Amino acid sequence: MQMLGGALPYVQEIAPYQAGKPIDTLAREMGLDPRRIVKLASNENPLGMPASARAAVQALLDENELARYPDSHGFELRAGLAQHLDVPPEWLVLGNGSNDVLELAAAAYLAPGRSCVYSQFAFAVYPLATQARGARALVVPAKDHGHDLEAMAAAIEGDTTLIYVANPNNPTGTYVDQDAVDAFLARVPQRVAVVLDEAYFEYLPAQRRVDTMAWVRRYPNVLVTRTFSKAYGLAGLRVGYGVAQPAMIHMLDRVRQPFNVNAVALAAATAALGDAAFIADSVRVNAFGMAQLTAAFDRLSLRYLPSAGNFLLVHLGPRAQAVNQGLLARGVIVRPVGNYGLPEWLRISIGLERENARCIEALEEVLKVL
Ligand SMILES: *Cc1c(COP(=O)(O)O)cnc(C)c1O
Repeated sequence: MQMLGGALPYVQEIAPYQAGKPIDTLAREMGLDPRRIVKLASNENPLGMPASARAAVQALLDENELARYPDSHGFELRAGLAQHLDVPPEWLVLGNGSNDVLELAAAAYLAPGRSCVYSQFAFAVYPLATQARGARALVVPAKDHGHDLEAMAAAIEGDTTLIYVANPNNPTGTYVDQDAVDAFLARVPQRVAVVLDEAYFEYLPAQRRVDTMAWVRRYPNVLVTRTFSKAYGLAGLRVGYGVAQPAMIHMLDRVRQPFNVNAVALAAATAALGDAAFIADSVRVNAFGMAQLTAAFDRLSLRYLPSAGNFLLVHLGPRAQAVNQGLLARGVIVRPVGNYGLPEWLRISIGLERENARCIEALEEVLKVL
């Protein structure tokens, strides 16, 4: 790699994020009709954007107000979230995607000479955010592909100031239950900030859903992050949020760009937040697709991890890369996860029934010829 003299050495060492292949890119590469391509690679909502949010965006365009800066504090969305979560609005910070909030935590808590704890196989943004700040990563070996919270608590060192926990985790779909998180939080010293990344919270079945706001109320060092990108169907608009006690929120606000969430995203998210029917539909479609895909994997004798999210991690062994290429050639985009140290697996986002069927059909064809 060519070294650019002035760039920070720890920035030069960052391995860039590998995003899911966009539909248009594959269409160009393979000469395929983009309308025939199925993308199950970025855990997006297959129902698309909620009609409620689209109407809000249209109204905003009609008002012709987009020449103005957005509300820097997102008053309306924060008020809606405060009501939705039963916390004061001062306990909320908005982000350009929850990715932005994860970065705000890194900006406020990490620097050279400090360390950050996260799990093996945890969401790829944690290593990126840690390394971009020149902090040391304490990567804790996974247990059954998921977070080993006991080992993570034990891994905390004197210079540790931040911990990321993805629950459910992406790309593994693993979930740690309430008792394990309770015990973990009780062990973490208060000088260490704990980010509980709940990007897939809305997909959790009722019996697994925990009142995570209770942790925020109890612990001043806990930050819960959630997003409008997954169940709310607004990934393209980039909006997410963090919930914590005001002292921590004030720190995040200091490193936040004043206009980090755009006006279109604010309007769409505010509308989507009130759209309980859309969330119910999304959860139903996801449960159906989960059953559809896992039944196919069972039939094909493919091992997969039980998932609490809107995606499945399936084991294909040494042929995983060839399978991925075969799927691409058939217009099906899934996600290779070699960058996570999982080269024998593919992550498949759960789509609509017909999209899942296309994926299964292509997978069967590919497995026959490999
Ligand atoms: C998708 C995802 C996010 C962030 O998504 P945004 O679009 O930035 O809100 C955060 N954490 C995990 C674990 C995710 O999978």
